[in-house]
Amino acid sequence: MRLAIFGGTFDPIHGGHLAVASQAAAELRLDRVWIVPAAHPPHKSGATRAGYEDRVRLAELACAGDERFFVSRIEQGGGCNYSIDTIEKVRATLAPSDELYFLIGADAFAEIRSWHRWRDVARKVRFLVVSRPGHRYDVPPEARVDRIDSLDLDISSSEIRRTLAEAVRPDGLPDTVWEYIAERRLYGVRF
Ligand code: ATP
Ligand code: MG
Repeated sequence: MRLAIFGGTFDPIHGGHLAVASQAAAELRLDRVWIVPAAHPPHKSGATRAGYEDRVRLAELACAGDERFFVSRIEQGGGCNYSIDTIEKVRATLAPSDELYFLIGADAFAEIRSWHRWRDVARKVRFLVVSRPGHRYDVPPEARVDRIDSLDLDISSSEIRRTLAEAVRPDGLPDTVWEYIAERRLYGVRF
């Protein structure tokens, strides 16, 4: 079994995340991609804009059509969520022959050296680093990396939040995600 952990705030999940997960699954022949919304992300200043429950629900709606994708609540509760803790918990559920990957965008991977116990992270997973417009990264010798350079998606949750706050439906949101956001008036949506 080949499994990738795909962590993030997913505030909200968007088509870029889904394209990243699909592309990685196709290129690396992954059986499963675990989307892991962070409850208390250590790398984001301030709170997330939507609560944990809504972000998980949105991710579930977005992943409903693809059986390779699974939304995990492994980071629910607890204090700060470090990737190393998530990786160790997931590894413990796998067979020794299973391969564990960590799927990540170029912007986030560029900060890898600032992560809590990053060398342990690098020992335990193989990174799948996906290109992102405007972001370059170098690979520390401690890290094993497969580069996925076939995507160049100019889409982010921050841009989507800005557009939603202007009461416009942004490009790049699956219908079900948009409908949930509009219904619950998340991200300051007003119509
Ligand atoms: P924000 O703007 O709030 O930071 P985001 O779009 O970057 O949101 P995150 O939840 O921060 O989304 O990211 C989760 C993971 O997805 C990270 O590894 C990030 O690099 C990756 N990612 C998000 N959008 C893209 C994209 N357009 N191309 C490649 N990777 C992406
Ligand atoms: Mg981000």
